[in-house]
Amino acid sequence: MTEFDFIVVGAGAAGCVLANRLVTMGNARVALLEAGPVDSIPAIHATDIGSMTSMWGPGEQNWAFQTAPQTGMHGRRVDIAQGRGLGGGTAINAMMYVRGNARDFDRWAEMGATGWSYRDVLPYFKRSESFDGGDDAYRGRSGGLQVIDMPVTSAASAAFLQAARSTGLSTAAEDFNGAQQEDNAFLYQSTRADPGSRCSTATAFLDPLRGDPRLTVLTGSLATRVLIEDGCAVGLEYVCNSVTTSIRATREVILCAGAFLSPQLLMLSGIGPAETLRTHGIALVADVPGVGQNLHDHLLLPVAYRATADQDPPQLLSEAGLFTYSGVFDRETNSPDLQFFFGPIQYADPEYVDGGPGFTLVPILAQPRSRGSVTLASADPLTKPLVDPAYLSDPADVEVLVRGVKLARRLAQDAAFTVLRDRELAPGADIASDEALAAYVRASASTVWHPVGTCRMGAADDPTAVVDPSLRVRGVTGLRVADASVMPMITAGNTNAATIMIGDKAADLILL
Ligand SMILES: Cc1cc2nc3c(=O)[nH]c(=O)nc-3n(C[C@H](O)[C@H](O)[C@H](O)COP(=O)(O)OP(=O)(O)OC[C@H]3O[C@@H](n4cnc5c(N)ncnc54)[C@H](O)[C@@H]3O)c2cc1C
Repeated sequence: MTEFDFIVVGAGAAGCVLANRLVTMGNARVALLEAGPVDSIPAIHATDIGSMTSMWGPGEQNWAFQTAPQTGMHGRRVDIAQGRGLGGGTAINAMMYVRGNARDFDRWAEMGATGWSYRDVLPYFKRSESFDGGDDAYRGRSGGLQVIDMPVTSAASAAFLQAARSTGLSTAAEDFNGAQQEDNAFLYQSTRADPGSRCSTATAFLDPLRGDPRLTVLTGSLATRVLIEDGCAVGLEYVCNSVTTSIRATREVILCAGAFLSPQLLMLSGIGPAETLRTHGIALVADVPGVGQNLHDHLLLPVAYRATADQDPPQLLSEAGLFTYSGVFDRETNSPDLQFFFGPIQYADPEYVDGGPGFTLVPILAQPRSRGSVTLASADPLTKPLVDPAYLSDPADVEVLVRGVKLARRLAQDAAFTVLRDRELAPGADIASDEALAAYVRASASTVWHPVGTCRMGAADDPTAVVDPSLRVRGVTGLRVADASVMPMITAGNTNAATIMIGDKAADLILL
């Protein structure tokens, strides 16, 4: 059986940086398995919005999950794109670079993830990135991941920034990935080598190792089971071109398969809630009830306007943004619960838009309270797991988004938009009562593609956690999880940067 020091499953946001570090810092022999293809299609490397969204339907680059019917959303099923292939989500995502709020990580530490406070994780955010702006105390200058300020000049985005200032929602003018994220309107930074070229984690962390004999990248290879002997992970079984193969790890196996597929692989390997494994006839290795629980995700909701004149085409899915508080929770102890996307286009469900010029403010539920789960649909590794995020099952989430619509309207009514603003398209000026707005939330909210939390990190003695603060899976040795699934609680902001940080820090936890 072919042998490696480490086997990493999943070449996405976390897996690529982790594999890079294990090779370059640990001088180790690493197998990196990826179910999807190499990153050769031009759409991955282009940065125009058409190329990017062309990868969001079912296809080779997208696992194309669909949720169970969501009771909190009038029974709708929600499509959730997830990247498949070298780079994972970072090869198809919207390239917005957002670290999250410092309080998010302090909260992780309070929830039992000792060693993951903002002070602890800041060095890893710096280590992975290369960015020209901001303050040296917060920003990295020589990492593999290229981050740029976008040269956005659209009049609509300038109006958004101005409106945020004049309504008092933006009182600071800092780097939002630096000292102060909240109350601070900004233009999104982007993971690009230059305005015309995406910087996925495959570009950033695998390309420099092409030809390095220490790294073996196996694409088109679906991991089907972790091989476990006497309670210790010793290798992996995978399928490539319908042929089943096993490889061995002399040191560790690390799962970086993302928030839906890492818990599935644990369960297929006998690690998970005993009852679920019994139902599917899988031999129990470790009863870990938390596997697949605690699924949560950000939701977005468009508040769209027709514009009085044609707008510049957007250069980023969302050009401008803001983190603020809805007032539902105490701002002294919580991260901002509302994030805004903003762009100079009409963006809403088809029944609202008229195809003309427009702009859209998009409040996002940044700190969702609803929790759902991922569980096995079948013991067959080729069958996707069942995804039930239980969106909007906590009424507080609806309340935050209702207030988000009101804040969006307050911004759009500001004098900064007077020249640009025509009528409100979605939800429409006649949707005014809290009940009508709540109905709009339940009918139109959708995913921001940020599922997290399904292999939750917690204290070593917390029986509901899946991994300990060193990312070691409960009940077995030689096995860790390092990806978005380990987040105890979602960050306030897009999840890519924090997931790359997790992959990078995992390398130190493993090697040092
Ligand atoms: C459409 C879209 C837009 C987004 N926009 C942004 C954005 O603008 N900014 C931002 O910060 N975040 C964004 N995100 C979120 C961000 O990309 C994710 O948070 C991040 O990619 C999660 O990283 P991960 O390592 O946990 O998983 P992924 O990046 O999804 O990587 C997991 C990898 O594992 C592979 N895999 C899974 N199972 C197996 C198996 N059994 N065997 C082998 N390989 C396997 C998958 O194919 C995949 O390549 C977006 C995501 C999507 C889908």
